[in-house]
This record gives sequence, C-alpha cells and structure tokens, in this order.
Amino acid sequence: MSKRLFDNTKLAFELKSNNSLRKSLFLFNIIKYPLIVKLSSFLMRLFLKLKLPVTPIIKSLLFDQFCVGLNEKESMMTVKKLSKFNLKSILHYHVEGYESEKSFDDCLANTIKTIKSAAKTNNVPFTVFKPTGLGSLKLFHKIAQGSILNENEKSQLERIEKRFDSCFQICQKYCVKILIDSEESWIQPGVDLLVEKYMIKYNKDEALIYNTAQMYLKNKIKYLDHLLRLSKKKSFVPGVKIVRGAYMEKERLRAKKLGYEDPICKNKTETDDNFNNALRFLVKNLKSFNFMVGSHNEKSSYLLMELMKRNKIKTSNKHIWFAQLYGMSDQISFNIASLGYNVCKLLPYGPVEEVIPYLIRRAEENSSVRGQSSRELDLIKKEFNRRRINS
Ligand SMILES: Cc1cc2nc3c(=O)[nH]c(=O)nc-3n(C[C@H](O)[C@H](O)[C@H](O)COP(=O)(O)OP(=O)(O)OC[C@H]3O[C@@H](n4cnc5c(N)ncnc54)[C@H](O)[C@@H]3O)c2cc1C
Repeated sequence: MSKRLFDNTKLAFELKSNNSLRKSLFLFNIIKYPLIVKLSSFLMRLFLKLKLPVTPIIKSLLFDQFCVGLNEKESMMTVKKLSKFNLKSILHYHVEGYESEKSFDDCLANTIKTIKSAAKTNNVPFTVFKPTGLGSLKLFHKIAQGSILNENEKSQLERIEKRFDSCFQICQKYCVKILIDSEESWIQPGVDLLVEKYMIKYNKDEALIYNTAQMYLKNKIKYLDHLLRLSKKKSFVPGVKIVRGAYMEKERLRAKKLGYEDPICKNKTETDDNFNNALRFLVKNLKSFNFMVGSHNEKSSYLLMELMKRNKIKTSNKHIWFAQLYGMSDQISFNIASLGYNVCKLLPYGPVEEVIPYLIRRAEENSSVRGQSSRELDLIKKEFNRRRINS
C-alpha cells in the first residue's frame, strides 16, 4: 500500500463544506498554542460555574468540531453521512465525573437508549460507556486498592454490577458491541476486575464487550498477556481497544505528588514502541482476541495494515477495527475505509455543558501532542489549495 495514502485530502474532507473547513482551520490555528488552551479551559469552567451564557460560543467553536449533536436523533444524521464512505460509527452519550446514584442511573438509561438506537441500523456496530458514568470513582479506587468494603460500599458495588449487567444484556439482545473506556491508572484495576467478570459471561463466540488498554502505561503488554491466559483458562474471547492514553499529565503529577514510580512510559518513543508491540501481540494472537485500535497515529495505522497483509489477514476481517475520534484524523479514517478495512468514527453527543471535560481534553491533546494540530492544519490547507485549483 502506498505510504502516501493519508495525503488524499479530497476523500478525507469530502463531507466538509468550505465554510466548515474554514471553521476547522480557525480552531486548529488557535488550539495549537498550549497557553491559549490552558487559559480558555480555565475560563470555560469558570463561566459555566457562574452560569454565564457561553454555551452558544462553545457549541459553535469546539462542540461542532468534536461532537455530533445534542441527542441521538441529531447524531444519526452524521452516522448516515459517514456510512456512504464505508465508515461505521460508535455512538457515545458522553457524561463523566458524576458521583450520585441518580446520575449513574440516568447515565445507564441514556446508554441503553443509545444501544437501542444503534440497533436500528447496521452502521453503528458499537456503543461505549465510561465506567465512572455508572459508578463511583471512589469505589472503583477502593476496589483497585484491594480494600475491604463496608456494608454501604458493598451495596453500592451491587448496584454498579446490576447497571453493568443490564447494559450488557441489552447489548446481547440487540447485537450491539460495547467499548468500556479506560480511566486513570489508580482506578483502572477496579474497572478491569469487573469488566473481566462480564467478558467471561458474555464474550462467548466473539467479543461483545471490549475493555480498553492504555499503552502509555509501562505494564500494559503484561495486561494483554494476562487477558490471553485468562481467556484460555475461562474459555472466552477477550475484546480489547488499545489506545495510547489521554491522562498523561495528571498521571505524572499524581505519581510525583504521592511519591510513587511514574506508571507512564519515559517518553513518546517508549509509548510508541509499547503501542506498536501491542499491535504485533494482538495480530499474532488473533485467534484469541477481537480488537480495536483507537489512534490518530499514521505510522501505527500503516503498521497494522502491514501486519495484516504480512499475515494474510483479509482487510475486512471482522475481528479487527480501526477507530478515530470525530473531528480528528479524517485522512486516516476515510482513506483506510476506502480500502475495505473496518473503520469506525467515535461520535460523542450530549448536552454541551456535559461534554465540556471531553472538549477540553480534545483541545489539550491537539495542543500538547507535537505535530497533531499542525498535521490537521497542513491537511486542511492542502485541501483548500486543491479546491482552489479545481474550481
Ligand atoms: C477511538 C478512540 C478511543 C479512545 N478511547 C480512550 C480511552 O478510553 N481512554 C483514554 O485514556 N484515551 C482514549 N483515547 C485517546 C487516546 O488515548 C490518545 O490520547 C489519542 O488517541 C492520541 O494518541 P494517538 O495514538 O492518536 O497518537 P499520537 O498522537 O501519536 O500520540 C499521542 C499520545 O502519546 C502519548 N505521549 C505523548 N507524549 C508522551 C511522552 N512524553 N511520554 C509518554 N507518552 C507520551 C500520550 O498518550 C499521547 O496522548 C481514545 C482515542 C480514540 C481514537
């Protein structure tokens, strides 16, 4: 395959009008400056706390770039448009950071609603939830530490298990797969324990549930190996979504503050090696695993395509998925999908105020990742040039 595959901007931006490209150009030009992003993140949080009417500005600038709507009905319009390019969608009703039992129940109800909407079309094979949307972060932390739970915590855990289980039952009934987003490293072992329990129950002939592994963590290849051994012992198909990881600064800060070893790889090269080794591991063990690669990294995307070719794996193999976030790296999604690979766009939706933390993460990611926003900018400029020449 050509190493210039991702330079095809005509296909990558076919869904974008000149106006919406201009808006993206403006946004990526601003968020390439980390200082501006830091300041605007602070201001966004402050203005919302003070209940100042900033929602329309956030909606027009950030939300429309990275989210697909306020509800599933709006999101379905994007699903339909993407499907014309052989792109599937992952619908995500996005909430995070809730701490009350009522909000967990509301999140479950919304997740179930999303699963049912997904079931109405062949274009949404996956939905997703964040574990701390369905249960208390503090409790996951306690479980991760192996602490003994008091009576109140035991009943909280029972309620979380009920929410997880009813969500997976609905997924099974409607044949919609589900991704479990990963959390910070001090919470994640608590999530892993629970997700493994349900993978054993539901992932029989293929994976219905996909756990997430953040490959910026030094110990994650070991985790994949643990899943492989567990799956052989308990006869199930582990589903895994691998990503590099989105909470690096928070992780490093906490490790330093509490004086334990930094769990994150020493530098970007080590994270890249870890990520690419995970790809090799998963392709080698494809008989055991179903997996999704959530990444905007072009080299890793090429590597997976090469590995599939070298191992004579069909592009359409239903157990391998590429995925990118809505509003980012369309040059990867659209071009790979055109070659017949399975590709998903992750489409977050929800009320603007609820998705603010997600929007801030996307803005920070695009300013802190060297090359990410400049790559987006280069591609948008290239497409403008192409359109000008052809007009
Ligand atoms: C479909 C999808 C689902 C996702 N789900 C999750 C999720 O559940 N949980 C989650 O945490 N993230 C998730 N992410 C975000 C993901 O973890 C990354 O933050 C993001 O994709 C950027 O990484 P990249 O692979 O695209 O590549 P790149 O842009 O090449 O890599 C950037 C990443 O490299 C790592 N990195 C950067 N600098 C250093 C350094 N100095 N030392 C060590 N490592 C470094 C960081 O992880 C950084 O995010 C998801 C992404 C996608 C596309």
